[in-house]
Amino acid sequence: MTFDWNYMFSLFSNMDFWAASWTVIKLSVLTWCISVVLGFLLALAKQSDKPLLNAPAQLYIWFFRSLPLLVLLIFVYNLPQMAPALSPILSNPFTAGLIGLVLSETAYVAEIHRGGLLSVPKGQYEAARALGVRYSGIQWLIIVPQAIRVALPTLTNEFITIVKLSSLVSVISLTEILMVGQRLYSQNFLVMETLTAVAFYYVIIVTVFDFILKRLEHYLDVTKRKQQRQPDEQMIEAVRAADEPVMRTMTESNGPALQAKQLHKAYNNVEVLGAVDLSIKPGEVVSVIGPSGSGKTTLIRLLNGLEQIDNGEIRINGQPFIQLRNTGPVNQRFIEHPEHRLDIGMVFQSFNLFQHLTVLENLLLAPRYHRLASREELTQRAQKLLLKVGMLEHLWKYPHQLSGGQQQRVAIARALMMQPQIMLFDEPTSALDPEKVNEVLQVIESLAEEGITMVIVTHEMNFAFKVSDRIVFMEKGRVVCDDRPDVLRNGGNPRVETFLRDVSLA
Ligand code: ADP
Ligand code: MG
Repeated sequence: MTFDWNYMFSLFSNMDFWAASWTVIKLSVLTWCISVVLGFLLALAKQSDKPLLNAPAQLYIWFFRSLPLLVLLIFVYNLPQMAPALSPILSNPFTAGLIGLVLSETAYVAEIHRGGLLSVPKGQYEAARALGVRYSGIQWLIIVPQAIRVALPTLTNEFITIVKLSSLVSVISLTEILMVGQRLYSQNFLVMETLTAVAFYYVIIVTVFDFILKRLEHYLDVTKRKQQRQPDEQMIEAVRAADEPVMRTMTESNGPALQAKQLHKAYNNVEVLGAVDLSIKPGEVVSVIGPSGSGKTTLIRLLNGLEQIDNGEIRINGQPFIQLRNTGPVNQRFIEHPEHRLDIGMVFQSFNLFQHLTVLENLLLAPRYHRLASREELTQRAQKLLLKVGMLEHLWKYPHQLSGGQQQRVAIARALMMQPQIMLFDEPTSALDPEKVNEVLQVIESLAEEGITMVIVTHEMNFAFKVSDRIVFMEKGRVVCDDRPDVLRNGGNPRVETFLRDVSLA
């Protein structure tokens, strides 16, 4: 058997093949782009806890993954027989092919996205929420960029699958690469030569796009990025020289800055907080201490609305922030007045810096989102705050390039960017190496000296007794004792005394 090499090489300049390749590229790229967008929405719907969203999403994914693409393509192309109104759209094989491919691919891509979404830690979402960013903003600014990075290798793979599946579109008489080949070899019977050329065209398309998507993957992976920008000495000097206050001046008021009344919270019918009352005056620093599992984290998460209260009320400056409203004899509705959310800043145990953004971008994200000021003004404010927490030199770094203590100091600056009236800290040093604890405590102490209202959950007893105006001791979801540090230190409460003895022995 002979192989006609000359004929095969002549096919590389065959215009029909190039035209068909262009069709395949258009069809594949469009299918991929549309499915990536629709698949993301479908994945969000499937993750939603609203049955009205997740049930149809599940049904869609189940159905279109079960249906062979060939059947779907023929069905879509012939749909005008049933619905003649669709004829102008679907009688074009390219459009019909695109719709068939998108219907099917969206189901697969949604599952790929779901993997990406699941890989983004919950803390990223919570940090953005604590900064007052709303659902769509969180998805778009925080979740999508991180989820896409994780999903991209699999999405690239899916693109290759789409390129190859596009050969099926020949059944609805779209002239793609395989069909051009079939036409040729049915005339000249040079099957092997023609198919070799067909293979060549597919391999070229896949190779080019694989390369482009790999580049994109590399670009999006911040952990592979070397720190390119060096600290700008001039800028650092200028920020040092400008000695203006960055903190919000306190509003003089006699009422409590933050007030929680009769807070109740249960998980799975087990009470975690029972009737907690807390009142914090402007400028006051309150530490919350107590054994593990006593409900300290839950309390602080209720205070800024990261968890919903089961009963009670939270007020800020005398105004309702979170409350339950009766909507019937038995029904109560959880109401949050979001305008007060920005009055509270939150610092998490696990820092929760946005991993895909630099230090500066982490600080700018929320104030830019809320359009608090111009970019220049906000950048200046960010620089001053970074100077304050000793992180100005690290402006251009990504979180993974920083130590835990440095990350936490950036997280404090990020919360301060919103100029909150009250700062909440949930064990800000518990995730740190022992030698990094002090650098963070010093920053918090300096804030305390500036008169910022703070609630700090901590296991650092010396620190708590040094900086606090009041110490709240919690046990089994209740406030057991709420008093001045000097009173407690001098044996004001036997239970607290036992706890302190246990902690210092540990
Ligand atoms: P602390 O911060 O004082 O160690 P937490 O507020 O984290 O305590 O937890 C108080 C109790 O609530 C613990 O018994 C914990 O197991 C429970 N708990 C906290 N969060 C949840 C949750 N999401 N689901 C179920 N139980 C929870
Ligand atoms: Mg805790």
